[in-house]
Amino acid sequence: MTAVAAEPTIFNRVVANDVCVGCGVCAGVAPPDTLRMRQRASGSYLPQEVSPGATRGLERRLLRACPFWDQEDDEDTLARADYRRQEGIRHRSELGYYLRCFAGRVADPDRHDRATSGGLGSWLARKLLREGKVDRVISVQAHPGEKPVFRYGISRTLEDLDQVAKSAYHPVEVSAVLREALAQPGRYLFVGLPCSVKAVKLAMREEPLLRTRIEYTVSLVCGHLKNRYFLDYLARCCGVEEDRVEMADFRKQIPGNPANRFAFGVQVRHGDDVKWHTIPMREVMGGDWGMGFFMHGACDVCDDVFGETADAAVGDVWLPEHIRDERGTSLVVCRRAEILRLIEDANAAGEVALEELPVDAAVRSQSAALRHRRDALPYRLRLYRKRGLWRPRKRFAGLATQLSLFRKCVVLLRDKLQRQSTRAFALQKPKPGLRAFRRRMLPWVFLYRLLYRLRSVYRRCARIYSRAN
Ligand SMILES: Cc1cc2nc3c(=O)[nH]c(=O)nc-3n(C[C@H](O)[C@H](O)[C@H](O)COP(=O)(O)OP(=O)(O)OC[C@H]3O[C@@H](n4cnc5c(N)ncnc54)[C@H](O)[C@@H]3O)c2cc1C
Repeated sequence: MTAVAAEPTIFNRVVANDVCVGCGVCAGVAPPDTLRMRQRASGSYLPQEVSPGATRGLERRLLRACPFWDQEDDEDTLARADYRRQEGIRHRSELGYYLRCFAGRVADPDRHDRATSGGLGSWLARKLLREGKVDRVISVQAHPGEKPVFRYGISRTLEDLDQVAKSAYHPVEVSAVLREALAQPGRYLFVGLPCSVKAVKLAMREEPLLRTRIEYTVSLVCGHLKNRYFLDYLARCCGVEEDRVEMADFRKQIPGNPANRFAFGVQVRHGDDVKWHTIPMREVMGGDWGMGFFMHGACDVCDDVFGETADAAVGDVWLPEHIRDERGTSLVVCRRAEILRLIEDANAAGEVALEELPVDAAVRSQSAALRHRRDALPYRLRLYRKRGLWRPRKRFAGLATQLSLFRKCVVLLRDKLQRQSTRAFALQKPKPGLRAFRRRMLPWVFLYRLLYRLRSVYRRCARIYSRAN
């Protein structure tokens, strides 16, 4: 890996140091026939010059649209420019600007069943389109039977929006849809992960045309993104070779279980029939999100969990009192008054069933992601510096958090699990099954579990000791 090169470009800094998330915004706003997105073996996307030297002279422009470059503006300043003038706006370091936060679900049980959690993500897109606030919606769609199954698309009608995917823990990129949005006049809603919303906001500053097209942005709350091996691996865990996968569902509800006990499922064709094969995530080695299996390198230097640059963010309320409904409960953070008004009116009309969520609870609902993204970030940045790797400037790099020895060990093990899982699956891929993969991963998974077990034993002993004294 390259540490530092003379003239910075997206290739010699962001890509070479493995912090490109493959969002595709740089390729979307680059002049035609200069830059395209290509897929690595792991399914992640990377920008590539259409011909050698095609982006000469565009270096600065491309960097300015990159969410993982050393921008002058960070999530705080980008969001401040858009939201600080909203009446009643407040700010909280972990979650950014907000007017109000809500917990709840769509009232239509059928739509709730089809959603990832409370269905507020797809409801908001439908609402903005139905009310004529936007003409088109840019979001991730599912294309059963095609490769890749999940990709960005543009919906023009409410029927088109039925194709919109549930949460796809799978790489997607926006270059083609951004080019289409630049070519086709209209008012667009952009739905994406925090990094791609930030990149779109950065690109809107560079591209006046894009600024006139993107009317609203909605972000998903995000713990981290996975590469495509995650889907391939889970398919094999279901006993299905990945080439046979027609469709995947990363969040299949298990009746009678709380929302966080979900399953993964793949749809496979058997003659004229299609059949779902599923496995509960808790039976999957690495099914624990905290282990960071197949995580993108870029996610380790991202400190935005709540999509802080978006007009609204939607996620899950991962709190004990909100996970009882197996179908899930949506978390909504509103930053723009027009969206807040839409939501409040729909709530009054019974279209959605939402209750106010105190901001402390909203933050607590993402405590695991915040611990990793925020608290451990300065330590990770120190580790990267020691390895001589370039990393972008971060908002919380100087945070004086003292990580416990336990947390430092978790960071080191997660780093190992993340890189080793992708490497081990690449070696396993030409052969059927998962034997070699499991053999390579088991010692690290064992150590990770042992670490947590030791901590719980230590805590129990400490409690007994303090009670006895
Ligand atoms: C990679 C990833 C990580 C996430 N991490 C967390 C987390 O740590 N905590 C948390 O609370 N929530 C997280 N979420 C969000 C969560 O999974 C749900 O998407 C969210 O609760 C919205 O549910 P819903 O029922 O309102 O959405 P739905 O009504 O099911 O709509 C889902 C929306 O997400 C869009 N979408 C799906 N996949 C992607 C993708 N890969 N990239 C961009 N857009 C996509 C679809 O286009 C659709 O608009 C994550 C989502 C993803 C994709």
